[in-house]
Amino acid sequence: MNDQNSAPLTTLRIGQGYDVHAFCPGDHVVLGGVSIPYKLGVQAHSDGDVVIHSLCDALLGAAALGDIGMHFPDTDPRWKGVDSRHFLRHVRGLLGERGFSIVNVDITVLADAPRLGSHRQVMQANLAADLGLTTDRVNIKATTTEGLGFIGRGEGLACQAVAMIQMSAK
Ligand code: MG
Repeated sequence: MNDQNSAPLTTLRIGQGYDVHAFCPGDHVVLGGVSIPYKLGVQAHSDGDVVIHSLCDALLGAAALGDIGMHFPDTDPRWKGVDSRHFLRHVRGLLGERGFSIVNVDITVLADAPRLGSHRQVMQANLAADLGLTTDRVNIKATTTEGLGFIGRGEGLACQAVAMIQMSAK
């Protein structure tokens, strides 16, 4: 009989995440743990890193562990201005405690500016380090929205992430 109790020895699971932050007066934007100089900043309780926030949600989603707001509520003063890499390392730990390992992650930054350019490799290395992965399991892409919508008007930026995780055989 093939039902949910006859689980295979190894189970792959997928999750997706999405995050948006609005621009505000400032001089840099944090993406993937990299502080990128820019003419604006982002409104956020933490450092407003849309790459890491969407990635945390993808990982939590794959493990059916809710979302980043449940684990790090923005009403909690402990998370004010915090480096979002702390969130990512914590999420990695939550998955590990439950027997999940991360297979790969893929990220798409949606922004007309700032351009990722040479920062992309450092972002990739940061995320790989925090997740205990080699960099060939971490991909970061970027796209504009051709001038359309809130991103095209330069009001903010967004990020989408997907993550594949694996439950190891017991
Ligand atoms: Mg966020």
